[in-house]
Amino acid sequence: QRDFERRFNIPHITDIFPDADPIPSTFCLKMRTPVMEDFAGGYPSDEEWHGYINKNDRVLLKVIHYSSPTSAGAECIDPNCTWVEQWVHRAGPREKIYFKPEEVKAAIVTCGGLCPGLNDVIRQIVITLEIYGVKKIVGIPFGYRGFSDEGLSEMPLSRKVVQNVHLSGGSLLGVSRGGPSVSDIVDSMEERGINMLFVLGGNGTHAGANAIHNECRRRRMRVAVVGVPKTIDNDILMMDKTFGFDTAVEEAQRAINSAYIEAHSAYHGIGIVKLMGRNSGFIAMHASLASGQIDICLIPEVPFHLHGPLGVLRHLKFLIETKGSAVLCVAEGAGQNFLGRTNATDASGNTVLGDFGVHIQQETKKYFKEIGVHADVKYIDPTYMIRACRANASDGILCTVLGQNAVHGAFAGYSGITVGICNTHYVYFPIPEVISYPRAVDPNSRMWHRCLTSTGQPDFV
Ligand code: ATP
Ligand code: MG
Repeated sequence: QRDFERRFNIPHITDIFPDADPIPSTFCLKMRTPVMEDFAGGYPSDEEWHGYINKNDRVLLKVIHYSSPTSAGAECIDPNCTWVEQWVHRAGPREKIYFKPEEVKAAIVTCGGLCPGLNDVIRQIVITLEIYGVKKIVGIPFGYRGFSDEGLSEMPLSRKVVQNVHLSGGSLLGVSRGGPSVSDIVDSMEERGINMLFVLGGNGTHAGANAIHNECRRRRMRVAVVGVPKTIDNDILMMDKTFGFDTAVEEAQRAINSAYIEAHSAYHGIGIVKLMGRNSGFIAMHASLASGQIDICLIPEVPFHLHGPLGVLRHLKFLIETKGSAVLCVAEGAGQNFLGRTNATDASGNTVLGDFGVHIQQETKKYFKEIGVHADVKYIDPTYMIRACRANASDGILCTVLGQNAVHGAFAGYSGITVGICNTHYVYFPIPEVISYPRAVDPNSRMWHRCLTSTGQPDFV
């Protein structure tokens, strides 16, 4: 069963510069000096005691032991194995660092769409860099585009500049899709003398960050490229959650509540709320669970019929007849099979999805008209209102710790990594591991079944 043990390796500067000499950390840990009772065995001397993270510290990815494969259900990777051991590098400040702060020029870039908490992460990266003693910190405006577009000059950052940026949503630096090639970005980094790059973005941005890391290695540049995963959809593999998700669920509830009030106050009212989730229905599922006001939750991972005796529309009729009103929540990626495939792509090459929210709204109106039953259908799409929010308290904390750990990771000499939270511990992952495919809601998981229990919806197939 040892086959099920797996460790993640993360790239380190000594992989290409074996002789790279570390220096003592300039990040001062203000930890309580231990007392004798803290140690069962030998008491460390003042020189030995520091409280920094050891490079061999590891976090266990899976912390559950199933007593049988049947109780593991879909949660177990292998049906013949009731446990899986996966270890991840623990994040945090190291005693020895591989960059002299006075030689560092750090850059921060934010790409893709907006997500609550971007400013919190930017702010914390800047603050932590300054604590290490870094003087040259810049923001690259409007995503990777800022590396190539003439007329977009880098933004000097300091604690003073970022002090209050977390009080508003959006990104201080601006975001964009598309932009220059990886080799143009690395050319620009060389030209500007950037040797630490912090990249805030989703799967596309991280694919870019990993390519930048590889290109820097190919050119034998002493550079650290560290990502902070930004996905409001919470669709990054292996992480407990990503920043912005909590805020999104909280804000989504407001939209659901409005839809509920509209539906409830109308004669035969039906409220439809479209939420984010291109590939994964985490926001829709969690907002349904949190609000307790959803009768039907539709997500991309779970197929359903609209028409027919087992379809969504027939169930809506049943709800109208029995409860007088109904509220639906649909993830944006749900029901794509009902829409004509568009071949359109955005500037980054992502497929543009059809709008299922509008489609189901029209189909619902049409259906009730056909069967001669009055229905008052209201449609709410709160996407942009949610994305532009400032982070809530729990996301604020997550962003702060991720930002700090991104800087600790860069100073520790790691590159091509991203930061995350696993089983409540903060960790570093190799980028390719977490972006190989989007994390999805498992239709066989306990959480989806809890959601179905709370909405009371049947199977629509
Ligand atoms: P979101 O979750 O908001 O979509 P994202 O990071 O996935 O965030 P994208 O628009 O897909 O957003 O990509 C952001 C940036 O990353 C763009 O500038 C794009 O050019 C670049 N990018 C995307 N995929 C790759 C790739 N495979 N290699 C290099 N760069 C990439
Ligand atoms: Mg993406």
